[in-house]
Amino acid sequence: MVTLRPAPASPDAGKNLLAEKFQRLLATVRANRPQDDLSLIERAYEFSLKHHSGQLRASGEPYVLHPLEVAQVLAEIRMDATAIAAGLLHDAVEDTSVTPQEIATIFGEQVAHIVNGVTNIDKIQFANREDRQAENVRKMLLAMVTDVRVVLIKLADRLHNMRTLEHLPPDRQESIARETLDIYAPLAHRLGMGKMRGELEDLSFRYVDPFAYEQVRSAVEARRQEGEKFLRGIENALQERLKEHSITARVEWRIKRLYSIFLKLQHQRITVDQVYDLLAVRVITSSVQDCYAVFGLIHSIWRPVPGRIKDFIAMPRPNLYQSLHTTVMADGGHQFEVQIRTDEMHRTAEEGIAAHWKYKAGGSPVSAKDEQRLAWVRQIVEWQREMTDPNEFLSTLKIDLYPEEVYTFTPKGKVVVLPKDASPIDFAYAIHTEVGNTCTGAKVNGRMVPLKTRLRNGDIVEVTTQNGHTPSRDWLNFAKSSRARNKIKHWLNEHQRERAIEIGRKLLEREARKYKVSLAQFHDTDYVKVASEYGLGNTPDLMAGIGFGKYSARQTLNKLAPGATAPPVGPETTISSMSDAVKRVYFSKGADSLTVEGHDELLVYRARCCNPIRGEEIVGYVTRGKGVAVHARNCPNVQNLLYEADRRISVEWARLPEADSAGHRATYAVKLTVFCDDRAGMLKELTAAISDDGTNIRGVDTKAGTGAEAIVEFIVDAFDVRHLNRLVNSLRRLSGVRDVQRQQKL
Ligand code: MN
Repeated sequence: MVTLRPAPASPDAGKNLLAEKFQRLLATVRANRPQDDLSLIERAYEFSLKHHSGQLRASGEPYVLHPLEVAQVLAEIRMDATAIAAGLLHDAVEDTSVTPQEIATIFGEQVAHIVNGVTNIDKIQFANREDRQAENVRKMLLAMVTDVRVVLIKLADRLHNMRTLEHLPPDRQESIARETLDIYAPLAHRLGMGKMRGELEDLSFRYVDPFAYEQVRSAVEARRQEGEKFLRGIENALQERLKEHSITARVEWRIKRLYSIFLKLQHQRITVDQVYDLLAVRVITSSVQDCYAVFGLIHSIWRPVPGRIKDFIAMPRPNLYQSLHTTVMADGGHQFEVQIRTDEMHRTAEEGIAAHWKYKAGGSPVSAKDEQRLAWVRQIVEWQREMTDPNEFLSTLKIDLYPEEVYTFTPKGKVVVLPKDASPIDFAYAIHTEVGNTCTGAKVNGRMVPLKTRLRNGDIVEVTTQNGHTPSRDWLNFAKSSRARNKIKHWLNEHQRERAIEIGRKLLEREARKYKVSLAQFHDTDYVKVASEYGLGNTPDLMAGIGFGKYSARQTLNKLAPGATAPPVGPETTISSMSDAVKRVYFSKGADSLTVEGHDELLVYRARCCNPIRGEEIVGYVTRGKGVAVHARNCPNVQNLLYEADRRISVEWARLPEADSAGHRATYAVKLTVFCDDRAGMLKELTAAISDDGTNIRGVDTKAGTGAEAIVEFIVDAFDVRHLNRLVNSLRRLSGVRDVQRQQKL
């Protein structure tokens, strides 16, 4: 099972061993791909030898032995010289000072591209995966690579690491073996590489479940002699009949692999005593016709076990595996499985995707073909899915044919699959709704990033949250997953409605005060009655309707207490009294036009503590009874308001600055404090600079500074932040001006 190679006794022995291994590699390439360019492989080996020199593996052997063995695996599966060279260099960028540029310069873009692909996969930490995550990781691996040779090198790399796993500490052994079983063996299976899969599984089995491994191994060992004797008898009988019928075919037999026996024992709930089911005979023919002939012949000698006949020639498996399978009963009730296939089918079964490389001559450009092959690999994955879960198949088919998914990780290595171009917000909602709702920021690969950042395959995402923080409507601009979008919308709707209900009540109260109507006299049934007149079900709906401006507070009051209010002027419209109020209070002044997102009819005013001006980032805060106070986002009070975060709402400046009837644009009073030299003419220069800009000065005040410093305070009218910044900069440029500060409070 596990092939262990003795460590070299001396440096010289190490050198000889390396030279021997390299010659073996060249011989394998010559045998499998006679046309390939050996010089590329030779140069790659020399390079690897040089750059890994002095490095040792855990086994104490020279490090370069590892890439050499990886290359050997690749050569044995008939990979081309490019892949073998990349295999020799696969750890060079990660473990030595070599740069990807260097690889590209010396070995060409293709080799560099493949080495890069392997390095990128190596960067991902797969720690702590759960079973259901494995599928995602496998998909991600395929999504990440643009050249399938990257996957094959990764598999060869893993195979050699598994072969030498005994040199690592036990805890690492188990986790690496688990990962191999979860990720790499199934990946090999998907690529149709039966031999690779089998070896990876058996090597892992030993470390993942040592107890079961030992049980199966000893049970098989105990029955090996008997089994082999039995199989030799079968072989002889079969050969004889083949000869009689003039069929040329090769007969092979083997005891099945330990891990597949283990799975079978688990699956079929049989005991190791039924060892004959663990025996397998394979007949390899030269034509499909002969396959069926042998199939018939076998059933004429031994009785088939019902339900065990499978024709994978007519119906190939998704990974292109073809074979006839049958299980037959020999004398004494001993069962054994027979697989019948052609030479070509056999190669496909053993080597899978790698088998498709073998006819291609080396040296020719392959990039376009690679793309096709990769599409083919992905196709295989999809076909395979079809067998297990049709629903999932459909969704993944869509995804992988049009790469619509991005695979990201939590810091603990859990895979989070998101739609393409997803943001950290999507990630946060994928973790948990509460995490999404309270998300304040994100780190990607350890670095702080804006929440609108587009995530890429392999990104490790960490979300920061803050209790009381709430979703923002902005998030809908970059949230891609339907889950995140629905959650955000749901939250916004819920909370907007709550606010609208509150505003509606306030408006009704105000209207009632105005007309001296006591609301205390009304019961819920009175409100419900009015609500039903509007086609609404209950009181909150009615209040929300008023708050959203659908129904006027005055009309509602009139319905509650008929005749209490003066008859409305003109026909009743859907414009709410609140929107009237906003117009009356603010628009008439021509300034302060703010909108509350989605509700331009809400009562809004600028908070006096920070006096935000157009263009500044702002947040709204629903006050009790006074409408919405608008603060600058950086206003210190905003932080203090967070304890009632559900009263916080998104606000934005109305799109167009309001102009009054004379066409004058609205301005905002801003207080500026200028720290400057205390000298004659300074004040004049300052005021000149301000008025030269066309800015109105509302007031000026001078204060004594310290020593030779004067402090001058201006209140100026600014159109917006841009105007203000321009003004501040022009003041700062004046000689003698030390600093200019804006005072939020007037
Ligand atoms: Mn490696």
